[in-house]
Amino acid sequence: MKRIAVLTSGGDSPGMNAAIRAVVRKASYHGVEVMGIFHGYEGFIEGRMELLDLGSVGGIIQRGGTKLFSSRCPQFKEDRYQYQGIEKMREANVEGLVVIGGDGSYRGAHALSQKGFPCVGVPGTIDNDIPGTEYTIGFDTALNTVIESIDKIRDTATSHENSFVVEVMGRDAGDIALWAGLAAGAESILIPEESYNIDDIVNRIKRGEARGKKHSIIIVAEGVMSGSELAKILKEKANIITRVSVLGHIQRGGSPSARDRVLAGRLGAKAVEVLLEGRSGRAIGINNHQIIDYDIEEVFINKHKADVTLYTLSKELSI
Ligand code: ADP
Repeated sequence: MKRIAVLTSGGDSPGMNAAIRAVVRKASYHGVEVMGIFHGYEGFIEGRMELLDLGSVGGIIQRGGTKLFSSRCPQFKEDRYQYQGIEKMREANVEGLVVIGGDGSYRGAHALSQKGFPCVGVPGTIDNDIPGTEYTIGFDTALNTVIESIDKIRDTATSHENSFVVEVMGRDAGDIALWAGLAAGAESILIPEESYNIDDIVNRIKRGEARGKKHSIIIVAEGVMSGSELAKILKEKANIITRVSVLGHIQRGGSPSARDRVLAGRLGAKAVEVLLEGRSGRAIGINNHQIIDYDIEEVFINKHKADVTLYTLSKELSI
């Protein structure tokens, strides 16, 4: 291959820029050019791209978001738009593509591979919900943002002797809630993967109060219910008054953590290697500290599983 392309798609995550940089630098190391496609699959369909030279990815390793912009592009699910994009790539002598994104973006990469256009997927999402890889780019940074926010909330909770419900991102995956809950010492954590028991949450708060504790932090992943819904239930059920904090989009932003930068560098470089070896339809990931690649179809067949041992542990540690 003489020329490949890279795009970022779906929800952005901190570390995507570091991954783009790794793709460009690794390809350049092998004498291969990289085209940067703007606005995800939207730009792919239209052939909206430019050559990324070594300097163009300088000074971005520490920046959140994505230099190439991202988009949701529903029409890309249709074959004709996929073929249109492949045609644009062929006209520009682009022979392969690195897609950095979540599982929706992987479906696009898979569809292109099936149509004979070599593609690999690099996991970029704060949700940590891609089957086959232990971590995704952006998860660690998001987690640190959440923990920092909860620490601050705890300061005011302590001062005013209030309890807080903190709503974090995670529609289907509870990893952010779970890890942040454990790291910030939350009294209760609600995640989509585990059923919750309101009596248990109430009892934990009451037990704490009996010990002289004046505040509690309860973390709820948005996929379970909203923070205000939970606050309402606690009020109605046990007359427990809580303040609600919805962390929202701050969880997606910020300078990537060291761990995310290193992960992005390793995964981005591996994606280039896989493409240059002539392989397609692969997902890149990390397992037991090793960088791996596997059939991208496994992402759709398997389901991401949060580490439930952490859930049990958090309950034990916040009695
Ligand atoms: P994420 O990649 O973060 O999971 P989305 O689920 O929104 O985000 O997917 C991002 C984009 O991937 C979509 O806007 C669409 O362009 C493309 N995509 C999603 N599902 C498919 C599919 N089944 N076939 C082809 N492309 C898809």
